[in-house]
Amino acid sequence: MTEQTCVRCGARTPPYDTVNAASSEGTYRLLCSRCFNEEMAQWADIIGFEHPQFTPVRLLDADGDSHEFHFRSLLLGDQISLEAFELAGNDESEGFRFQILDESQSDPFDLLGKLVQKMMRALSMKHLHEDGSGLQVAGTMARGRIEWDGDEDSRLPCVVIDGKRVEWNDFGAMLMSFEGWQFRLELLDPSDEA
Ligand SMILES: [Zn+2]
Repeated sequence: MTEQTCVRCGARTPPYDTVNAASSEGTYRLLCSRCFNEEMAQWADIIGFEHPQFTPVRLLDADGDSHEFHFRSLLLGDQISLEAFELAGNDESEGFRFQILDESQSDPFDLLGKLVQKMMRALSMKHLHEDGSGLQVAGTMARGRIEWDGDEDSRLPCVVIDGKRVEWNDFGAMLMSFEGWQFRLELLDPSDEA
């Protein structure tokens, strides 16, 4: 993974811990999340803000497989976002990702506790199972995340279910075992619980 340099403090930072911050002049600066938060705290008049930094944690999924999660916290005005994600090839279309939003003054460890609870609830569920013909939807409910498939020409999504990338066509093929059934599609903000 190529590290990037924060233009404010000069820290060499892994790409997942940086932000391309827009200025009022419409230019972008690459900042580490700590510098981004310090500038945001100043801008939003948040006194005594301390950038929360959490070491990675390992959690087990329903199959007993271990997943390593990294954290990034971003101050967004009067809210703070805490994200947890796997570094699956540094590609957003792989692995589990979770986010929680709360008031900017909230205790970072409370926030971390809530996020880890949410992660454990999600990891305890499996929506896909493998049969002779490949991955199938296990029940009648699939939870996941919509990502871009990365193909500039197609602009099609892929979905990430159980932390696994599923191509749009493959997802369609999975749904063919429900031919004639109805469906209900509900889209939820990343910080909501699916
Ligand atoms: Zn920095």
